[in-house]
Amino acid sequence: MKILIVEDEQKVNSFLRQGFEEELFTVDSAFDGEQGLFMALTEEYDAIVLDLMLPKKGGMQVLAELRKEKSTPVLILTAKGQLENKIEGLNAGADDYLTKPFALAECIARVRSLVRRSQVERPANQLIAGDLILDQLQHTVRRGAAVIELTAKEFKLLEYLLRNKDSVVTRSAIIEHIWEITFDSETNVLDVYMTRLRKKIDDGHETKLVHTVRGVGYVLRDPE
Ligand code: CA
Repeated sequence: MKILIVEDEQKVNSFLRQGFEEELFTVDSAFDGEQGLFMALTEEYDAIVLDLMLPKKGGMQVLAELRKEKSTPVLILTAKGQLENKIEGLNAGADDYLTKPFALAECIARVRSLVRRSQVERPANQLIAGDLILDQLQHTVRRGAAVIELTAKEFKLLEYLLRNKDSVVTRSAIIEHIWEITFDSETNVLDVYMTRLRKKIDDGHETKLVHTVRGVGYVLRDPE
């Protein structure tokens, strides 16, 4: 597990670093908000321990900017009274918080549980095929860096294909699932939706994800 500690007090930073390293974490340290945000955005961490009172950029600002790009779990460190209440920090996108002074063992335990939680949540929230990510909670679809706008039906259709990734789904199964009625699978409604969906997710990409299985239905294949 790799974590980032953003804390300007040298003593606290190295104390945390040592503690986490003893527990076999890989640890990077940042000593101000700008450096911390830069590292958080450019490196992949399993969790971030973020102090609130930081030079150059405050912890809340770091958190707000990080959350526009990434959902890395964040544990906020706060001196008593800095954070009005738990809600403020959690609303700002923190996953947990700890009031200073704290016990090292508790900090490590909280980080561990954040990482565990995010690892459990990720597959449940997100359906992934290659560089395509559908987030079921946020209702967003991305392919690589591009955000793809889908209508409600197209979203449902893609979600269904992703859930059945690498298996062929029949036309009638799709129709039943998406329209919740059984209409003639010879109808071209499905073809119209399929064409639109494929245009949105596959056009301009060398690797196509959706494939037609002639006479049967469709399959969304993971290129990996
Ligand atoms: Ca500080």
